[in-house]
Amino acid sequence: MSTLAPIQNTDREELANIMNRAELDVRMVTALCGDRTLNAREQDTLNRLVAERGDGLYADMLYTITHRAFPIKQARHIWEEITTHRKDINSKLGRDVGVAVAAHDYLTNASSLMKGVTIIEESKMESLANIASRDGLTGLFDQTSFKHRLKEELERQVRYGTPVSLVMFDIDHFKQVNDNHGHAEGDRVLQQMADILRQQVRLMDTAARYGGEEFAIILPEVEQQSAYIFAERLRQNVENFFKMPDQHFPVTISLGIKTASQDLEITPDGLIIAADQQLYKAKRGGRNMVCQP
Ligand code: GH3
Ligand code: MG
Ligand code: MG
Repeated sequence: MSTLAPIQNTDREELANIMNRAELDVRMVTALCGDRTLNAREQDTLNRLVAERGDGLYADMLYTITHRAFPIKQARHIWEEITTHRKDINSKLGRDVGVAVAAHDYLTNASSLMKGVTIIEESKMESLANIASRDGLTGLFDQTSFKHRLKEELERQVRYGTPVSLVMFDIDHFKQVNDNHGHAEGDRVLQQMADILRQQVRLMDTAARYGGEEFAIILPEVEQQSAYIFAERLRQNVENFFKMPDQHFPVTISLGIKTASQDLEITPDGLIIAADQQLYKAKRGGRNMVCQP
């Protein structure tokens, strides 16, 4: 068994890249492994992914199945180990357990299976899991990974002096959506909100579900003025989307912005509180608006 390199800082962008892949769902991965056959559209997607991602595809597949991020240069090796492990289990059991079960078994029993192998340390694994953890309903980053990233971005801001903007928003009168249309419809609105958000952010941004119907976006290297333009466009996109004829009721959001720039050193919690204050100013001001200091 060969030795796996520990995770380097330079892997971070690679990891972010892996975690932003949404199109590789579990069904796709099982198809990729021959657990089931591909339809024509899936085959097209697969061809494109292979061309685009190269070995990165192994990391994508591992992430999809295990929710753990492995650097691309380790991923292929781990994938091959899992494939071998699957064959072992299959021959012992006399039936095919499938790739997901094989992967989980391989990774959860990694300590005995991979003796002498420097796999990513548990503590690093944990912190990676924090960076990557996602909200189940929307697929956006959850509050834990949001806070982790905000801390990192603010450290970067202090080190290099580049600005970081935080946009927080909350759905207006969301309780009424639940009361008038039911909780399931409320959940659908939250998912739709996440889709609108995903369409607007850049790869380097972090879009998170902060709480129930509250969302947060970290915009690295974005000054307050550009953050305002971003937030105002998001506000309009949401309003316009829910005005479309196939939507049953209007939905709007209120947004608050705070930027950490060279002349303002601020803690993650301080930045969140400041953006939240602007958000509440927007609520008090009549909702469906963006406020900034
Ligand atoms: P405001 O404009 O002041 O924000 O009014 P609001 O009604 O949106 O505010 P409030 O905080 O009173 O209500 C938030 C509601 O969001 C209450 C809660 O039931 C709902 N909510 C929170 N999480 C979820 C969820 O996961 N699914 C659904 N359907 N509703 C949720
Ligand atoms: Mg709220
Ligand atoms: Mg609300």
